[in-house]
Parts: sequence; C-alpha cells; structure tokens
Amino acid sequence: MIETREDYLGSLRGRNLDVYLFGQKVEEPVDHPVIRPSINAVAETYELARRDPDLATAVSPFTGERINRFLHIAASREDLVMQNKMQRRLGQLTGTCFQRCVGMDAFNALHSVTFEIDEACGTSYHQRFCDFVAFAQRHGYVIGGAMTDVKGDRSKAPHQQADPDLFVHVTRRTKDGVYITGAKAHQTGCINSHWLIVMPTMRLGDNDRDFAVVGAIPVETPGITYIYGRQSCDTRAMEAGDVDSGNAKFGGQEAMILFDDVFIPNERIFMDGETDFAAMLVERFTCYHRRSYVCKSGVGDVLIGAAATIADYNGVDRASHIRDKLVEMTHQNETIYSTGIAASYQAAKMKSGAWLCDDMIANVCKHHVTRTPYELARLAQDLAGGLVVTLPSEQDFDHEKIGPLLQKYLQGREGVATGDRVRILRLIENLTLGRNAVGYLTESLHGAGSPQAQRVQMARAAQLESRKKMAQKLAGIETALDDPAAEPGGYLERVFKPEKP
Ligand code: SF4
Ligand code: FE
Repeated sequence: MIETREDYLGSLRGRNLDVYLFGQKVEEPVDHPVIRPSINAVAETYELARRDPDLATAVSPFTGERINRFLHIAASREDLVMQNKMQRRLGQLTGTCFQRCVGMDAFNALHSVTFEIDEACGTSYHQRFCDFVAFAQRHGYVIGGAMTDVKGDRSKAPHQQADPDLFVHVTRRTKDGVYITGAKAHQTGCINSHWLIVMPTMRLGDNDRDFAVVGAIPVETPGITYIYGRQSCDTRAMEAGDVDSGNAKFGGQEAMILFDDVFIPNERIFMDGETDFAAMLVERFTCYHRRSYVCKSGVGDVLIGAAATIADYNGVDRASHIRDKLVEMTHQNETIYSTGIAASYQAAKMKSGAWLCDDMIANVCKHHVTRTPYELARLAQDLAGGLVVTLPSEQDFDHEKIGPLLQKYLQGREGVATGDRVRILRLIENLTLGRNAVGYLTESLHGAGSPQAQRVQMARAAQLESRKKMAQKLAGIETALDDPAAEPGGYLERVFKPEKP
C-alpha cells in the first residue's frame, strides 16, 4: 500500500511513460524540474493522511481498512463535508491544485451510476466497479479521471464529427474487452496518477453508442501518449535558485492524453454502449466536482495571507482601507467555502448507498469560483503594488555590485528583510499571474465546466413556475389559487425540508 510521500514517489518511477514536454520525450517525470512540483502536491495528500487521519482518511466498507479519503465512497453527508474540509486544508498547504479530487469524484459518481445502469439494463457493472474500488483502496492508488474530449465541431454530436477520434470511442470489441482511440484535453494530474478512468464528456444519443464507454486503465498502458501542458512562467523552475518561482515546491498539472488503440479488459469496463446513462454520469460527476472547488478557498487563504503580509511589510497594515480590502477578500473566499459545504450538507442518498451532494448549490459554488478568485487576485495585486511585476531577478539580488543596492532600495518597513519582502511578492505573482494562477484563476473558470455549464444547470433547477405561483398567491391572483403547481417541489422542497440523515 502506498502510504507515504516516499512510497508515492517510488511508485511513479520507472514506468517508462510516453510523456512529451518542450518537444522532447521526458525520461523520468519524477526528476523533471517542471513536473516535480505537481508530484509534490499529490504527495502532500499522502502526508496529510498520515498527519491528520481524522481529516484525510476513512474506514472503507469494501476492505475494512483505513484508507485515504480520496479513495472513499461517501456513505453519509458528513463524509462529503469532510471531503470539503480536507480540500480546503490541502489548498492551504500547497497553494495549488493537488489533483486527486477528479478521481474521488469519478469514484463517487460511478458508484451510483453503475448501480442504476445494472438496474435498468441487467448488466453487471456495479460489482466490477466495486471490485476495482477495493483494489485501488488496497494499493492506495491515485486515480485520474479522464472526461473532457477535444470535441472538434462543437455544434455536432460525436458520431457526426468529420473525424470520429475527436471523441474517445470504442474502435473494436473482442471477447476479452474493447479498444479505444481518441484524446482527452487538459487532464488534471493524469501523469501523476496510477490509473485513469475514461468517461464520456457529455449527453449522448442513440447513434453515439461507441462513445458511451467508461473503463479503468493503468497510466502506463501501451498506446497512451501524454503531452504536458505549459504553464505560465513554468521554466522558472529550471532556473537556479528558488525565489523567482514564487512557490518552488508545489504546482498543478494538466496534460493532453492521446489514446491509440488502447485495450480495456472486460473486468475494468463500467459502461459500454448505455448512451442513456452518459448524461447521468456527467451530471453526477460535475455535481460532486463543482463543490470540490472549495479547494480554491484554501488557496484563497494563502493569497489573503500573502496580501496581509505584504501590507505588514510595507508598514500599512493598519490603514483602514487596507484592512477593508482584506475583509472583502475574506468575504469572497468564504462564499466559496460556504456554498461548497452547504452542497455537501444538503446531500441525498442514492440507490447504491452513495451520497450525492445538492446539484443546485454545487453549481452555485462553482459559479462563485469562476468569479471570486479573480477579484481576490485583483485585490492582492492592489495591496502588493506594481513591484509584483517589476521585481528584478534572484540573480540580480545575488550580484556583487547591484545586489546590495537592490537590498537597500527595495526594503520595506524597518525590521523586515528585503529578501522576505521579495519572496512574498513572488508568491503573489505566482498565484495571480504565474504557475499557480493556472489553477487558481483559469482552472477556476473552466474546470468542472465553464460558467455557462453551471448557468444551464441552475436554470434547470430554478423552478420559475413554482416561484411565480408563490408570488401570485400572495398577490391574490385568483388563477394561482389551488393550482397544484403552486406547491414547491424538487429543489425548493429539498431546501426547506432536507431529508433526515
Ligand atoms: Fe481538486 Fe481543486 Fe484540483 Fe479540481 S482544481 S482536482 S477540485 S484541487
Ligand atoms: Fe479541475
């Protein structure tokens, strides 16, 4: 079982993956200076489980053993809340995307969806899936979810594309399993995972049968190529020194995955052709994942701390407008956390026994996440001042002649080392413009669905008819009286009468 940082690093070595970065094959991702910070961030999920087992582990009903919470199927609303608390803590510890929530949310979604496919179609996916969960738990694996297809012409269904490979699909079936071809874009933490779960990316129709495939494959399966996504300022990790990186230890990871005739054996296939259930899977996965974005409130804690520190170093921490900006950042940040955790508390039990968070509030959470980190970044840069983008390099500070002059002229208030002031400014740069702005800003915008995807879900759940009737009743409009539609139902019902645990 992989339990420690060292176990984890060891488990990634020697896999001979086909990983490309800067036009070259990467010999050993673990030792690559650009990739290593993303591996360190995942390693922290193992270390947190050791240091704080109440927060980051759970006892598995599958194995009876204590396991990492990222591999646990939520058996109560409290389990979902604990996921959020763990995510916030890891955001605080790493200041970046620690990549494991995709697998956790895919596991949870598939638990209920495989159960319901079996119920409707007489298949046996659920037991297969539960066997895989137990297997992953026994080994302590990192599971990567691979959902987002490259999509080609967005106005066309998968089977209508000029090139069918624009959506991952089954190319042939044998008695032992299926072969898939296609590509998945911007896949979080895929190279740092042990297994990938391939899933469809959207609602599918009857003609899209070959695209309705879910299966688990080892990351090192032959036929898979990984192309590393560049991040802003990523090559700073290849420079001497650690100041200019801003957060030298931790980073996120996204890569493109190309599948060329990749084999999935029968025992690892959890959907094959059940097109009706593709939308259910996508909606349940995004429901979990959209409230998983409370991770950004942990990163926001770091940014607020950095903004408060630079205000202190500049000697202005008592100014009322500075304090007010820190309050505004806190308010915005807690809004993410509150909605995420509310979605978890408002969870409901699925037929399979897994608990699913509240779809409306999960979407509200993610929608806040598409906005508030940008506002926090603006306020942090406001407090940081222009130096955040005009600072000289670490090499200049180390220079015999100009170094001492920079130390003198870039000092803040008395008692603060110039070097510490530079470090905190570099961290603000890292979070708002540099490597970790990829996770904190743009991933917040597009990860788990772009803003419009949440608005579509919110519109579906909004129940305007029911709300109109409420208003009409109180206004004394006669046609509204005794109309069955006047009774709140669905989402509104759940808000006011939550199911007892
Ligand atoms: Fe987890 Fe957040 Fe990264 Fe998504 S963006 S994998 S929720 S840390
Ligand atoms: Fe993500």
